Amino acid sequence: MTAHTTERFEIVLNTQAGQLTTAVDVPTGFVPIAAIVPLMRRLGEEAQALEEARTTEAGRPRSCHKGCAACCRMMVPLSPPEAFELRELVRSFPTERQEHIAARMAQAKSSLLSHGLWYQLLELGESSQPPNDDELEPVNRKYYALRIPCPFLEDEVCSIYDERPAACRELLVTSPAQQCEDFVNNHVELIQAPVRIGSTLGLLWGELTKTPAKLIPLPMALDWAERHQTENRSAWRGTMLLDQALDKIWRLLSQALQKRVDEPIS
Ligand code: SF4
Repeated sequence: MTAHTTERFEIVLNTQAGQLTTAVDVPTGFVPIAAIVPLMRRLGEEAQALEEARTTEAGRPRSCHKGCAACCRMMVPLSPPEAFELRELVRSFPTERQEHIAARMAQAKSSLLSHGLWYQLLELGESSQPPNDDELEPVNRKYYALRIPCPFLEDEVCSIYDERPAACRELLVTSPAQQCEDFVNNHVELIQAPVRIGSTLGLLWGELTKTPAKLIPLPMALDWAERHQTENRSAWRGTMLLDQALDKIWRLLSQALQKRVDEPIS
């Protein structure tokens, strides 16, 4: 990937987990949208660390650890910028590894096709409507029931850990790891992600391209990015992308705050 000149920006975010003050290095020139994915993910992780510190202090430390990968059998939604970034990542791998991933993707596709889910998921990635939680819920359940391992899961360990999607970083639990073996029937306590980076990037992409926000299920993300490659040729100033992304984060944070204010006190 080309090295870009960057400028450092101080950022302050007021999240439900407390105030996050951090600095990010933003490309100053024109860059494709995937260029801001790593810094956005880091921002999300820093916000998540605040929430994790809070739950740990309350006696509920994170129970996720290397080798427990039940959540790697759930449907992982990617925003379009992350799908483009994933495609670039896979293209940077040696041919043999690319072929291995292509074969794993094909296995996942075959399983989804034989259970009648592939076309439902395809619609999600190509929908002209923004994703709707009520419609997603049954799809998520059906997907999880199949226990299809993520094509990047090797020996129960993520093979792209440093570049894994935001959704994977945001799914952390405090309940015993064995509870995750059945997310549907067991009680699983989540560490709430204060900032949803996938949703933020999805909204940003939607605004830039004048299309609805999208979520692309991971097993079809490489195909999706390939099909939409022409849309990825556009470039924007990195500083403008950061500005717009922060605007979406603030919007999502204020919606979350409003939701909490509106919730009845029990
Ligand atoms: S990308 Fe990595 S962390 Fe995410 S579901 Fe796949 S294997 Fe698990």
